[in-house]
Amino acid sequence: MNLILMGLPGAGKGTQAEKIVEKYQIPHISTGDMFRLAIKEGTELGNKAKAFMDQGELVPDEVTIGIVKERLSMDDCQKGFLLDGFPRTVAQAEALENLLTDINESLDYVIHVNVPSDQLIERLTGRRICPTCGTAYHLLFNPPKEAGKCDKDGAELIQRKDDKPDTVEKRLEVNLEQTKPMLDFYNDKGYLISVDGDQDINQVFEDIDTKLGELSK
Ligand code: ADP
Ligand code: ADP
Repeated sequence: MNLILMGLPGAGKGTQAEKIVEKYQIPHISTGDMFRLAIKEGTELGNKAKAFMDQGELVPDEVTIGIVKERLSMDDCQKGFLLDGFPRTVAQAEALENLLTDINESLDYVIHVNVPSDQLIERLTGRRICPTCGTAYHLLFNPPKEAGKCDKDGAELIQRKDDKPDTVEKRLEVNLEQTKPMLDFYNDKGYLISVDGDQDINQVFEDIDTKLGELSK
């Protein structure tokens, strides 16, 4: 299945992606994770992305589209993929259509995780991530078993630099502007599935899973 997960920052894309890829056995492609890894490793891509990310701005389309193109051409994407955090602009969505056409593929569904904006600030500022495996926790809504430590590998959890209150508002503003035209773009193409993301984490997944199951019949 070729899927996109859409939603504003903090909507729960990463959290749901982990469950979707486990059940559907497809690779999870997160542009944010790819950029963070590149920054950590100090690559040329990381240097290009860092200044934008630190300010809560989008990384330029040509850079972002380039890394997605490279990733989608890898062997593991032959059984499908779950894109998370890409596309974020209509220009990226159009570029993706072209990339997929070139490799004789097309999208199946675009899952929109819908959460009211006023909840997102609390979700983002309370988010803590594992620097080793990338798993996201929340201080109140999804705490690790042992405070400050990853359940999976015991690493010390950190706060993303762009999850500090100053940057969070900027990120939401930038993303809000871009989201509506993209939802319209995918709705017009008939790919869009909307899910209420303002529910318990497991309930959100159940809703996604049920809808995908019904639609794939
Ligand atoms: P995104 O990838 O969309 O930015 P995340 O999956 O990282 O979002 O989730 C953002 C924060 O909200 C994390 O701290 C996560 O633990 C928490 N979270 C995710 N889903 C829910 C939910 N349904 N209810 C409450 N908190 C959630
Ligand atoms: P969130 O959904 O919580 O904002 P991500 O990890 O998806 O977090 O993205 C973090 C940052 O990485 C974004 O604020 C942006 O700077 C950059 N980024 C990720 N995906 C894209 C994209 N598709 N286009 C441009 N910039 C991106």
